[in-house]
Amino acid sequence: MSTDAEKGRLVAGLWCTDVLAGLPDFVDGELSEAEAAAVRAHLDGCDWCERFGGAYSGVVARLRSDGPAREEAPDITAKLLGRISEG
Ligand SMILES: [Zn+2]
Repeated sequence: MSTDAEKGRLVAGLWCTDVLAGLPDFVDGELSEAEAAAVRAHLDGCDWCERFGGAYSGVVARLRSDGPAREEAPDITAKLLGRISEG
């Protein structure tokens, strides 16, 4: 298994880029249980995403820019962290 700097790392069957792309749905609880579990497992075991954490809110905001973005970025980050800790 090789790592690709552009995609991040492959952890728990997901690339970092896949995880980041799915974060809005993850935060909104729109992923299936299996998908959400995979995202949690990835974030749990991926220090690349952990280091990237500070940028989550910006990434999420950008991904959501084509839809109604009613929530403040810090709130999204808090919800995301809450979901991760739900374990
Ligand atoms: Zn990652």
